[in-house]
Amino acid sequence: MDRKSDNHTHILFDPLEQMIEGAAQRGIKSISITEHISQIKEIRGSVNFRSTHSSGRIFQNLDEYLQEFSSLQKYIDSKSSANVRKGLEVDYIPGYEKEISRFVNSYRWDIILRSVHELSDGSDVEAKFDPQSSSMRARRWTEYIGTEIALVKESEIRFDVLTHPIRMLVGTPVTEEELLELLQELAEACRTEKRAIELNGKDLTTHPRHVAVLAKACSQAGCSISFGSDAHHSNEIARGYERARELAESFNLNFIT
Ligand SMILES: [Zn+2]
Ligand SMILES: [Zn+2]
Repeated sequence: MDRKSDNHTHILFDPLEQMIEGAAQRGIKSISITEHISQIKEIRGSVNFRSTHSSGRIFQNLDEYLQEFSSLQKYIDSKSSANVRKGLEVDYIPGYEKEISRFVNSYRWDIILRSVHELSDGSDVEAKFDPQSSSMRARRWTEYIGTEIALVKESEIRFDVLTHPIRMLVGTPVTEEELLELLQELAEACRTEKRAIELNGKDLTTHPRHVAVLAKACSQAGCSISFGSDAHHSNEIARGYERARELAESFNLNFIT
C-alpha cells in the first residue's frame, strides 16, 4: 500500500475534526469515516437493530451526518489534511435488506463497508459465549460465516469492503485450523464478487494470529484486502497498520486504497 489509508473509522465518540487531526498525526493520507447506520435515528424506525452502541452520538438523519463533512469542508480541503472520504458501515440483517438499501442508496458514498453484527437468535456476535458446548460454538461460527457469504452474494447495496469478518472471536473462540476452513469459501465469494476483505485494526490488536489465518485464506482465494482501524477514538486511528502491512507482504496481498 503506497498511500497509507485507513478505510474504517467512526465519529460517534470523537468529532470529525479530531479524527482528521488524528489521521494527520499518524501519517494517514486517506481516512474514511464510516459511521454505523444504526447511529442514525431515521433508519432505527424501520429496522430492528439488535446490536447497537449503548452510548455515543446519534445523528437524526443522513443530512445531519453529511452536514458534519460540509461544515468542515474548508479544513478538509486544506493541504495539511488527509483526504477524507464519506462512508457508512452498513449492517446486513436478513429480512431488512430492502429498507436498508433504500436508505443507503439515497446518497452516493465514497466508500461503503458491510458487516454482520448479530445472529438470527438476536445475539450480538461479540457477546460472551458460554463455551460449554462445542457443537453450539461450531453452529454459531457456521451461521456467522454463512451470513457473511450470503451478504457478499446477495447484497442489494454496492459495497467495497466486508469488514471485521472474524469479529465473533471476541465472543466465541475457534481454533486456527477450523477458522481457515471456514474462511476459504468466504474469501472465494469475495474474489468472485470483487469485494475486498478487511484486515481490521481491532482484530489485529486482539487476535493477531487469527487475522494471519484470514490473510492466508485471502491469499489462497486471490481476493483483495482493505486496512481499517475501526477507530472509535482518534488515538485508535491506524492501529494495527504495521501488522497489516507485514501480512500483506508475506502473503503477497493487494490492498485497495
Ligand atoms: Zn462493525
Ligand atoms: Zn466499525
